[in-house]
Amino acid sequence: MVNKQIAEATKVELDLSQDETKAINEAVNSAVNEEIKNAASATSEIKVEDIISKDNRYKVLNSDDVISTNKIGDIEVKILYEIESEEKEFKCTIKVVDTIAPIIEYDEEVVTNQDENINLFKHVSVSDNSLEEIDVKVEGEYGFNKPGTYKLEYVAEDSSGNVTRRDFTLVVKEKKVTKPSAKPSSNNGVIGKTSKGFDIKKINGVFYIDEILIVNKTYALPKNFVPKNTYESAVDVKTNCQTCIDKEAYNSWLKMKDDAASLGLGICIQSGYRPYNLQKSLYNNYVERDGKKAADTYSARAGHSDHQTGLAFDLNSINDDFTKTKEAKWVNDNAYKYGFILRFPQGKEKYTGYKYESWHLRYVGNELAEKLYNNGDWISLEEYFGITSKYSD
Ligand SMILES: [Zn+2]
Repeated sequence: MVNKQIAEATKVELDLSQDETKAINEAVNSAVNEEIKNAASATSEIKVEDIISKDNRYKVLNSDDVISTNKIGDIEVKILYEIESEEKEFKCTIKVVDTIAPIIEYDEEVVTNQDENINLFKHVSVSDNSLEEIDVKVEGEYGFNKPGTYKLEYVAEDSSGNVTRRDFTLVVKEKKVTKPSAKPSSNNGVIGKTSKGFDIKKINGVFYIDEILIVNKTYALPKNFVPKNTYESAVDVKTNCQTCIDKEAYNSWLKMKDDAASLGLGICIQSGYRPYNLQKSLYNNYVERDGKKAADTYSARAGHSDHQTGLAFDLNSINDDFTKTKEAKWVNDNAYKYGFILRFPQGKEKYTGYKYESWHLRYVGNELAEKLYNNGDWISLEEYFGITSKYSD
């Protein structure tokens, strides 16, 4: 908002060319001065002719200059006049100066919180009758990082040196220290300890030991468990999916596959993520073919399969023929470098509950994988954590 006020002419200088016009000079001076002062509150433009001709002692012959008093600065005015039948001319310079200070509109109190910097200039606006743009400054010491009440000043100065100052208060409130809310459960999902002293956690129906998701004959996944953060989405997948594998695991697998290929070894994922219902029908088929007791030695019941985690997959040909291949040998000796373990190592049936599977890899991360690799003498997850793998029936 600009408050338009007309500048007041406080100084009028008239430069007369001849001495005998000194009287006129004074009269004009006085008249111009007076008129401009009077006009200042009403109009922004003054006709010089109107001013001069009011004085009876002289007559203005020619002047159509317009003096605009809303602009600061010098105005050259040329006046022709007649006195005692003699025509004369004088020039005058009218200097218009501004004597009105800028107007500051502002908030008397500005409030913020500690460390929340705000722009103090958004709380102030300045206008001036001169219509010039005027900078406003904040004077005083303050800090947004230090709680307190600061007495400050907005200061605005126009080009004529008129200064306006306004006191305001900046309040910086102390940052509220948020107290940690009481946790709903203090055990973080811990439901017990393994025989080796590891915490067993159950989160959303899923068992974890030392942050490793555990699935075996003892520990089942919920029927509706679908892995998240997989390379390709496992949501609504009904069949075996080779790429619905945990992103981290899959990226590690791609590297492993490349490294194998560079040695002339071909490995591929034959069976990856399997949803609950697929595992259910697979298992039921095996039971029908071989009977339940036999099926339980090589196939998991629904909800008990590593394949439902999205962290496991089978390589190449899913049978003992694979075990004899140079690929299987390389996988056995190198998978741990990529964070994979042989989930069902040779000679560990009594721990894992399953026969040896040279083709079944499970991702657990490099650290644990190297421990379980055990320089080639694989340890099962069950042994390492001290857990069982037995169905309850
Ligand atoms: Zn498998």
